[in-house]
Amino acid sequence: MNAALPLEEVHRRIAHACKIARREPEEITLVAVSKTRPAQAIVPLIEAGQTVFGENRVQEADAKWPELRERFSGLALHLVGQLQSNKAEDAARLFDCIHSLDRPSLVAALGKAFDKLGRRVPCFVQVDVGEEPQKGGCPVAEVPALLQAARHAVIPVAGLMAVPPAGIEPAPFFALLDKIAADNGLAGRSMGMSGDYETAIMLGATHVRIGTALFGARA
Ligand SMILES: *Cc1c(COP(=O)(O)O)cnc(C)c1O
Repeated sequence: MNAALPLEEVHRRIAHACKIARREPEEITLVAVSKTRPAQAIVPLIEAGQTVFGENRVQEADAKWPELRERFSGLALHLVGQLQSNKAEDAARLFDCIHSLDRPSLVAALGKAFDKLGRRVPCFVQVDVGEEPQKGGCPVAEVPALLQAARHAVIPVAGLMAVPPAGIEPAPFFALLDKIAADNGLAGRSMGMSGDYETAIMLGATHVRIGTALFGARA
């Protein structure tokens, strides 16, 4: 499959959603979620110009990306999955952005890792907009306290992230995330996946996390 074609299609749809929303495509960061994909599936996308990639497991990312980063310069790697505190230091070393900061113990672990490495990676606070604690995410009511803890630990907070409940209309959850971000003076909104990124862009997304639409269905 020619990787440039799905990438062009996603770019085209992002541009169309931006036009309707009176936004600029440059405001949107496309995170190509390459979890479960082998390096040979990722290389064509890099060659087609994609630079920002997302993985959901520290171990898998560590197995795939050091070699790719040696081969290609200018890549950025984002963590889009739940992070265990005992992997915080590995994550801080490997990733350029973390989308899943969701609890005080992880704030503490990442703060400590950033201090130790002398490297502070921008983080999104993941919010449990659908009240599904099993998915991870900070309860809505606890977001201000978590943001304060993150500031105290000198963690750069880029914005908020959410994964709305599956199988129901996501727009109200995107609107909720947008409102909580605005209430807390945050610019970034990481929301929208293959099935709903145009809706997310209409509702203020700055980062869309797209796997299937770029790589095909996962096994
Ligand atoms: C897998 C994943 C995505 C991408 O999902 P697609 O439906 O394949 O686009 C986005 N965000 C997170 C957190 C994911 O785990």
